[in-house]
Amino acid sequence: MTPHDGEALAPGTRAVSLGRPAREPGAPVNVPVTFTSTYAADGAVDYARDGNPTWEALEEVLGSLEGGDALVFASGMGAIAATMSLVPVGGVVVAPTHVYNGTTGQLADREVAGALTQRRVAPEDVAAIVDACEGADVLHLESPSNPMMEVTDVAGVVRGLVERYGEDRPVVVCDNTFATPLAQQPLTWGADVVVHSATKYLAGHSDALFGALVVSGERPDLLERLHTHRTLYGAIPGPMETFLVLRGVRTLHLRLERAEANARELVARLEEHPVVQRVRYPGFGGMVSIEVAGGVERAEAICAATRLWVHSTSLGGVESQIERRRRHALEVETVPETLLRLSVGVEDVEDLWADLARALDASPR
Ligand SMILES: *Cc1c(COP(=O)(O)O)cnc(C)c1O
Repeated sequence: MTPHDGEALAPGTRAVSLGRPAREPGAPVNVPVTFTSTYAADGAVDYARDGNPTWEALEEVLGSLEGGDALVFASGMGAIAATMSLVPVGGVVVAPTHVYNGTTGQLADREVAGALTQRRVAPEDVAAIVDACEGADVLHLESPSNPMMEVTDVAGVVRGLVERYGEDRPVVVCDNTFATPLAQQPLTWGADVVVHSATKYLAGHSDALFGALVVSGERPDLLERLHTHRTLYGAIPGPMETFLVLRGVRTLHLRLERAEANARELVARLEEHPVVQRVRYPGFGGMVSIEVAGGVERAEAICAATRLWVHSTSLGGVESQIERRRRHALEVETVPETLLRLSVGVEDVEDLWADLARALDASPR
């Protein structure tokens, strides 16, 4: 099956069936993990920093799910660094106040080096985002935002940019890690490049660091620049990690369905809990942030008291995770000190609630 045949199939079906070897008698069902650093001369690819058949299988699946051309990277940060290479020296990047704290770190690092200037804007204010893009080179969006769960009207922003700046609009990059391509496809809203930390939902088992970009079919120029960047700067994934992520993606639709059902149920119960002051949930997906009464000490105590929920950073795995985001120095000060980010996994929801409720109740008041 080719990706083209696959377009008519549902996303879950494509996640399962694309990226496999041609179905010939005796062919393996799964793409082989190709461990090689070089290739015999005169083929399409010479050297493995430029290409690998295991990457291509995953790129076929991710490209189909997001509706563009995918490039895999060694990590989400490696993929984001590639998009920053689209900013000319001294250029301008616009980003919402709340994005993944590594993105905040990367922007700050580049700004200190004199490579770019950043403008930060309120994530939900379409008019302010469009205004801030005057003369900008890249608009880096993330929706829902980590960890505040704000939703940006990406389609509205792109429409505003086209109306206001026409051809001179910035390249629109959208980090789709929290939503996954099953919940939203920013390229269909006019974004140019989608970012994934595939470490999270796509891999889904907290066992691989991985990144990806998916580029709009209308921007082959960007695809070429980003591909060249990957080859020249070398943020390439290993074939084994690639296989793990491809295997994870096969069940993305099943995992996400359960995570979202669990999250909805937990949100309803958390909203009634006296210790919980605010629940932030965008209405879909498995990510929930809560703000708790009683200050930093209580917030930390809740994380320490859970037994089933894993007190750890990261998200999108089959196991549920909890953490206080402000424990990270890079997290911006507008994220409340008492905000706990929950990555709801695929366990039984009653077990998850029992553990969380016990931790909320047991913590000091
Ligand atoms: C984790 C994360 C990243 C960074 O990805 P790595 O795979 O850890 O390098 C980027 N964006 C978001 C939204 C993330 O959650």
